[in-house]
Amino acid sequence: MKISSMGEFGFINRIAPPFLKDLPDDIQGIGDDCAVIPLNGKESLLVTTDMLIENIHFIRDKISPGDLGYKSLAVNLSDIAAMGGVPESAYLSLGIPGDIDIEWLDDFYGGLNYLSKQEHVHLLGGDTTKSPAHLVINITVIGKADSQLIKYRSSAKQGDIICATGFIGDSGGGLKCVLEDKPLNDEVMYLIRQHNKPRAHIAEGVWLSNYPGVHAMMDISDGIDSDLRRILEKSQCGAEIDIDRLPISQQLRNVSARFQWDADEIALTGGEDYCLLVTIDPEKYKIISDKFNEEFKRTLPALGLITKEETKLKYFRNGKPAIFQGHGFDHFNNY
Ligand code: ADP
Ligand code: MG
Repeated sequence: MKISSMGEFGFINRIAPPFLKDLPDDIQGIGDDCAVIPLNGKESLLVTTDMLIENIHFIRDKISPGDLGYKSLAVNLSDIAAMGGVPESAYLSLGIPGDIDIEWLDDFYGGLNYLSKQEHVHLLGGDTTKSPAHLVINITVIGKADSQLIKYRSSAKQGDIICATGFIGDSGGGLKCVLEDKPLNDEVMYLIRQHNKPRAHIAEGVWLSNYPGVHAMMDISDGIDSDLRRILEKSQCGAEIDIDRLPISQQLRNVSARFQWDADEIALTGGEDYCLLVTIDPEKYKIISDKFNEEFKRTLPALGLITKEETKLKYFRNGKPAIFQGHGFDHFNNY
């Protein structure tokens, strides 16, 4: 049997059970954005690891080494943000092909160092090996959170309002601009910047984690269509998404109109947005979104509802059911 027959998520679900079976109740193993390991009565360690492979996650001559260093760390920080934690240290392993210049690597570390200083995350170690052809980057980040405040994918409840902490689709639009070599203007450059230098929503994650009315949280790495399904599986519920209410930037709308792209599809499946997908108690949504607005000077848009129907994700447009054929990113499945 080939891995493409079950996909990335089918594979993870297949290998996980023996490793989840004997875990103590207070440890979170395979299945969320981070592993959670209680430290003492109050705090927990959060651990996450993400790998970036040349020609799968990036094309070496389409991103500057500094941006790639920045992004490699940012995508890991985003998983700590998704649990409501604060990142503290990072570990970087590289598989380096022979054709890479040392100056290229200096710039890669420069971009990574810039973000590590900005977020007070210390690079404390790693590993270096030769790679036969392609650059391989693996980062592990360790963070901390108040154990009582950690948000899990498994905590969504029927009736919750589904929100995103930022625009979705900009990164997917940026990737299309890069792959299709679109002529640069301010809007195209904005989208490419979102793709190459994503911002982990750490402050938003910590802030939201303080509200008991915030139930489930995860970061958007594979696109809402895929990521929301992970929340539905873990929380054993369904969801309805209102396509008209997707938070899409004016830049993505304009660029999509110009090149006849479907902005809704890019928003739902593009991925690599690295903002947070959050489900909120409907009775607490107004107060939390008003306070979010005061704190971050932007809205916390609602895009749908958690429903009872287990793992069913339904789409609506103008209040009517809509068929949506796209899928989020899966490493082994092209659907
Ligand atoms: P994210 O996109 O948030 O990084 P993933 O979808 O990559 O999360 O992974 C989902 C869960 O599966 C995480 O808990 C991750 O640690 C775990 N996981 C992924 N790949 C493997 C693997 N090869 N072996 C063990 N656990 C894995
Ligand atoms: Mg994640």
